[in-house]
Amino acid sequence: MKLYNIKENDEQVSFGQAVRQGLGRNQGLFFPQQLPTFDDIDALLGEDFVTRSTKILSALIGDELPPEQVNAMVDAAFQFPAPIKSIKEGIYALELFHGPTLAFKDFGGRFMAQSLTAVSDGGKITILTATSGDTGAAVAHAFYGMQDINVVILYPQGKISPLQEKLFCTLGNNIHTVAIDGDFDACQALVKQAFDDAELRKEIGLNSANSINISRLMAQICYYFEAAAQLSKSQRENLVISVPSGNFGNLTAGLLAKALGLPIKRFIAATNANDTVPRYLETGQWDPKPTVATTSNAMDVSQPNNWPRIEELCRVKKWGLETLGKGAVTDAQSAESVKDLHQQGYLCEPHGAIAYRVLDEQLQAGETGLFLCTAHPAKFKEVVDEILESDIELPAPLAKHAVMDLLSEQLANDFDALKQVLLRVQK
Ligand SMILES: *Cc1c(COP(=O)(O)O)cnc(C)c1O
Repeated sequence: MKLYNIKENDEQVSFGQAVRQGLGRNQGLFFPQQLPTFDDIDALLGEDFVTRSTKILSALIGDELPPEQVNAMVDAAFQFPAPIKSIKEGIYALELFHGPTLAFKDFGGRFMAQSLTAVSDGGKITILTATSGDTGAAVAHAFYGMQDINVVILYPQGKISPLQEKLFCTLGNNIHTVAIDGDFDACQALVKQAFDDAELRKEIGLNSANSINISRLMAQICYYFEAAAQLSKSQRENLVISVPSGNFGNLTAGLLAKALGLPIKRFIAATNANDTVPRYLETGQWDPKPTVATTSNAMDVSQPNNWPRIEELCRVKKWGLETLGKGAVTDAQSAESVKDLHQQGYLCEPHGAIAYRVLDEQLQAGETGLFLCTAHPAKFKEVVDEILESDIELPAPLAKHAVMDLLSEQLANDFDALKQVLLRVQK
C-alpha cells in the first residue's frame, strides 16, 4: 500500500510507515495512492464479517502483509458484532457499540493495535494520547497487555465522567493514566510538546494513536460492508447512511467504502451545534466557530481533522461535495429524538439520535435509511437518564470497571513532570 501526504504530495510512504508515523510533514494526512475496487460486491457481502474484512483490508494493504497475517489481525481485533436493528419502516440502526469500551472507536483502536505490532521494527513503542473520554478508553483496552508497547493517557482531572474514568483508569499493567491539573486543551498541548521534543520522541518511540492514523479508518470501512450485508439487495441499492460526526473519521471511512464499490446512494453528515461542516457545505465558506459544549460531547469539534481526506476523496472520485447530505441538531432537538426513538422501543443516546433525526427528515420515498449508533446508551447514562427520567442499567463491561480502584497518577500541568513519567514507564 502506498500513501501520499495530502499537503506535501512528494512525501510517499508505505502502510507500515503511515501507521508508525501517523501524520506526514507539515501536519499533512496520508491518503491511499490507489483504491482497489471489488467488482462482485454481492459475493463479497455473502462472506462472514472476518473473512470479508480480511479481503477488504488485504486488498488495501497489498503485498506488505500476507493475507494470513491480516486475517489473524482482523480476527483478534473484530471479536464483537455490528448488528443492524429495525427501527421503523425503512429505517435501521447500525449498532457499533458491542466492543469492550462500548463505542465504535473499539474497531479502529483494536485494529490499529494489531497494525502497529505487525509493522513494528522491534523497538519499544510509547503511545501518548490525550482524551476527553471515548478515545482513551478504546486505546487503553486495545493495547492492554501488548508486549513492548506502553500507553500513557492524559486526561483533564475532574472533567470526564466518573464512569468514563473508571473504564480506562483501572487497567494497570502497560496502561498508565495521568490526571492533569488542567483542561483538555492543556492535555493536548502537553502531548504536542512531547512530539516536538525530538530527543524524547526517539528515545521512547513515541506514537499518538489518534484518529488521523490511517489504520483506524481502514478498520471502520469494514462495518459499512457488514451493515449492507444484513440488508436485502433491493434495500441496499437505495441506501442512505447518516453518520454522527465530530472529527469526521467515521464519514471518511464510509466514503472510502463507497469508493471500493459498496453501492451507497448518499451519505448524510450529521453534527451537533458544532456545525462547521454543514455550514461549509451550505455556503462554501470554511468558518470554524469556537467549540461549544453539547450533550453529544464526543462530537464537540469545530475543526474536524479528517475533513481534508473527504475533500481529497471527492476530488479523486469526481464526486461533487453537494451530493453529501447535511444537518446540524441542537441539544433540545437531540433530546426530542432520544424520546422519539424510545417511544418506538429503541434506547439510543444523543450521538446516534442526532444521526437518526437528520436521516428521518431527509429520507425520500423508496430509500432505505441507516443511522450509526456510535456509543452504548449507558456510556452517556447521565444525559439519557435525564432525558427519559430513567435509570438505565450498566452493561457488564461498565459495571465491572465501576467498582474497581482508580490507578491514575495526578500531575501538574507541567511538561518536565510529564517527561519524567514518560521516561520512567518505558523502562
Ligand atoms: C468519536 C465519536 C463520534 C465522532 O466520530 P468522528 O469519527 O470523530 O466523526 C461520534 N460519536 C461517538 C460516541 C464518538 O465517541
